[in-house]
Amino acid sequence: MNDLEQLYQQVILDHNKSPHNYGHLPSCNRTADGMNPLCGDHITVELELNGDIIKDVHFTGSGCAISKSSASIMTTIVKGKTMEEADRMFEQFHHLVTDDTIDVSDEGLGKMAVFAGVKEFPARVKCASLAWHTLHAALHGENEISTES
Ligand code: ZN
Repeated sequence: MNDLEQLYQQVILDHNKSPHNYGHLPSCNRTADGMNPLCGDHITVELELNGDIIKDVHFTGSGCAISKSSASIMTTIVKGKTMEEADRMFEQFHHLVTDDTIDVSDEGLGKMAVFAGVKEFPARVKCASLAWHTLHAALHGENEISTES
């Protein structure tokens, strides 16, 4: 294991241990539930959408370290962004965890690059992307998603 991989793992462990933006959001006006039945991950994303801007975002739920740390990092990244920016990040993240050709040193990916390693483990891809699918559902007015379909 090289140093970079070790650092990435530590970031995931830290976010799993002390997730950011964890807990209910009283000002929430959009929400969605996401399930990943393969692993048993269940995440609820709560958003405060102000016009086009994600003013605040929280999550609750339980799941494995990958799903929880991904949700934690997702909330820190999309807070303050527009819906359009969040949708673009969702796409970037999808490429990051499924596409071998993407350059993970691309700064635009920021903290998300920590999950590039999961594409070696197809079962884990759904854990890492659950929070993003749930965010997408909340933004676009679907209230429930399952990565099974
Ligand atoms: Zn999982």
